[in-house]
Amino acid sequence: MSIITPAHKVSALAKHLAALLPRPVKVMEVCGTHTVNIFRFGLRSLFPETLELVSGPGCPVCVTPVEEIDFLVAAALSQGARLATFGDLLRVPGSWGSLKEARAQGAKIKIIYSPMEALSLAENFPQETVLLAAVGFETTAPAVAATVLEAKRRGVSNLVLATSHRLVPPAIRALLASGDLNLDGFILPGHVSAVIGRGPYEFIARDFGLPGVITGFEATDIMEGLCLLAHQIREGRAEIVIQYSRAVPPEGNPAAQALMKEVFSTGDASFRGLGEIPGGGLFLRQTYEEFDARGRLDLDLPPVRETKGCLCGQILSGRKRPLDCPLFARGCRPDNPQGPCMVSSEGTCAAWFQFHENS
Ligand code: SF4
Repeated sequence: MSIITPAHKVSALAKHLAALLPRPVKVMEVCGTHTVNIFRFGLRSLFPETLELVSGPGCPVCVTPVEEIDFLVAAALSQGARLATFGDLLRVPGSWGSLKEARAQGAKIKIIYSPMEALSLAENFPQETVLLAAVGFETTAPAVAATVLEAKRRGVSNLVLATSHRLVPPAIRALLASGDLNLDGFILPGHVSAVIGRGPYEFIARDFGLPGVITGFEATDIMEGLCLLAHQIREGRAEIVIQYSRAVPPEGNPAAQALMKEVFSTGDASFRGLGEIPGGGLFLRQTYEEFDARGRLDLDLPPVRETKGCLCGQILSGRKRPLDCPLFARGCRPDNPQGPCMVSSEGTCAAWFQFHENS
């Protein structure tokens, strides 16, 4: 009896994908983890020439506008706030420099792995203002919401949040509404979808006539997701289907959704490179405004300065590839990033820099 290994399965799916795509198609993988794993597993070399895969806006650090980085740098430097942040944000360039540079100048910055660590920090330093950099998509927002609720329950008053939460479906809608991308379908994020479910993506099929597949992160998941998408494209169908059903129920995670809804309201939000997106962000509700850093800290912010020549905005909207950027691998490298797409572990430029010559 022969054993079918994941490698056999991937290879068989690659052949199937090629057979399904006799004409050129353009597909967006929205999520940064998909971008990285496609490289990591060497899948690009298995794709048929008829498949063009472009990256989307699914790297939370990358879409955080430079003025929000500036706010964190200013809070940590000029107000002496003790900053709690996820590590990805540390090296993202702001107008005055990065948080890493602020730390070298004496700013108190702690890398955290869970928002609850910021609450512990606030309790350990009751005389200080502890600022949580709440950056992320729907995946992170429920844990941040739970932290706010717990801080309120414990009466912790020195914890404040700079919320930079962004929502994935409004970003996709904004990209599609721009009308110039000529996409044939989407590989949709698995982690975000585990929270929000399938419903928030239905507009892609209904309003724009395009298919989408919520896809997992293993090599076989990604190839299977692409095959499910290719089937629909070939048959002229447009539905949102779930390949990653072991983690994504159609309704998502109602408990996580309830946490978000309790603490945040949606509003228009700026995405780096994509501009203002209607309903694209989460903001603290009035009931929790005591935790809003922007209301509590009076900061003098510099005029916004973006890196000249950085194409992150166009890369995040699938209009350019990292190789189109004149700074790629020259002035901009992971050890000297000029834009957020080269910083984050989910950044498209970082993924291309690390893997593209081997793919
Ligand atoms: Fe920006 Fe660097 Fe990517 Fe160019 S290579 S788009 S400068 S992050």
